[in-house]
Amino acid sequence: MHYIVLDLEWNQPLNRQNRAYREYGDRLIFEMIQIGAVKLDDKLAIVDSLSVPIHPTAYLKIHPRIRRMTGLGPEVLDEAPLFREALEQFLAWCGDDYVLLTWGCDDVSVLQQNLNFFDCHPELPPLCDIQHMFSDVYELKNRMGLKPAMDMLGIDPEEDKAFHNAVNDALYTAMVFQRMGHAEDVFKYPQKPKELIHQDPAGKRGQTVTSLREALESEAATQPKCPVCGKPARLEAGGYVPQSPDKYIGLARCASHGTLLVRMRLRAHSANDIWMNVSCVKATKPNIAYIHTKQLQLEQRRAAGLLPDPEKALLNADRSSVPFED
Ligand SMILES: [Zn+2]
Repeated sequence: MHYIVLDLEWNQPLNRQNRAYREYGDRLIFEMIQIGAVKLDDKLAIVDSLSVPIHPTAYLKIHPRIRRMTGLGPEVLDEAPLFREALEQFLAWCGDDYVLLTWGCDDVSVLQQNLNFFDCHPELPPLCDIQHMFSDVYELKNRMGLKPAMDMLGIDPEEDKAFHNAVNDALYTAMVFQRMGHAEDVFKYPQKPKELIHQDPAGKRGQTVTSLREALESEAATQPKCPVCGKPARLEAGGYVPQSPDKYIGLARCASHGTLLVRMRLRAHSANDIWMNVSCVKATKPNIAYIHTKQLQLEQRRAAGLLPDPEKALLNADRSSVPFED
C-alpha cells in the first residue's frame, strides 16, 4: 500500500461582482489550479512525486494574491490540462492500493467541490488527516499550520522549494508524516469533505470596508453592541490585538453589563474590498487577563519595530479560513 500526500492550490474569483462568480459562486468557490502529491511506500520512503497544473475554466484570471503565493499564472496554466484530464493523470499515477493524506480538511473539501462542479465521480480511497494526527501525537490543543509544525520538528524548508506550491507543500507534509512514526495510525483520522459555503456578506451579517484601519476605526468595532442590552459598549483603551491576520479580539465595557469580549473577523476579497464582522460575548476573567497580556506584548513588539504590516498580512492571510458550513 502507498501513502499519498495530496496538496492542492486553487484560484478564487477576483471579487464578488465578478460575472463568473455570480454565475458559479454557489457551486464553485475555489477552482483547483494545481494538484501536487508525494507517494510514500509502506516503510515511509518517498518513492515518487507529481505536479499537475490545471487550466481553469470558471475563474480565468488568477487572483493576484494567489498568483503571488503560488507563482501560477497564464504562462503555466494556459497550456495545462483541463480538470477532468488532470484528475485522470493524478488517479492513474496513484495506482490501486493507496490512502490519500492531507494536512487538514481544506484540500479534501475543495477537491470534493471541484469533483461535483466538473461532474466527476471517481471512487476515492480513504481520506485521512495528518494535521489531526499531529495534534494528537504531540498533544496540542489546537490545529497547527504546516510551517509551525515543521519548525517544531526541526524540518527546514528547502531553498528552492517555496511554500504554496502544491508539490512542495505535499513534500513538506510527507516529511512531517515520516517524523511522526506509527504511520498506520493515520487511519484513525478519517475525514469527510466539508461543504464549502458561499460567503456572501449580503446574506451574512457584517459590513464591507476598504482597509483594516477602517475596520478597526469603524463604529461596529469601537462601539460594539452589548449582547445583553444591545446598547453600544465602549472599546477599552488597549484596543484590538490580532489572533491571526484576519481575526482580532479586544475588550469593551457596557455600563450595565460589564466587560465584553469582542471578536472581529475579516476577509480580504481584494485590497480594498474587505468584509468584517464584529461579535461580542460577556468576558470571563481568563479572557480579560489573556487580552491584557496580548496588548502588552503587542505594544512591546511595536516599540521594537517587530510588527509586520497588518494591512499586508490581512491581504496575504492564509487560506486557513476557508469558509465552511459550521
Ligand atoms: Zn449591556
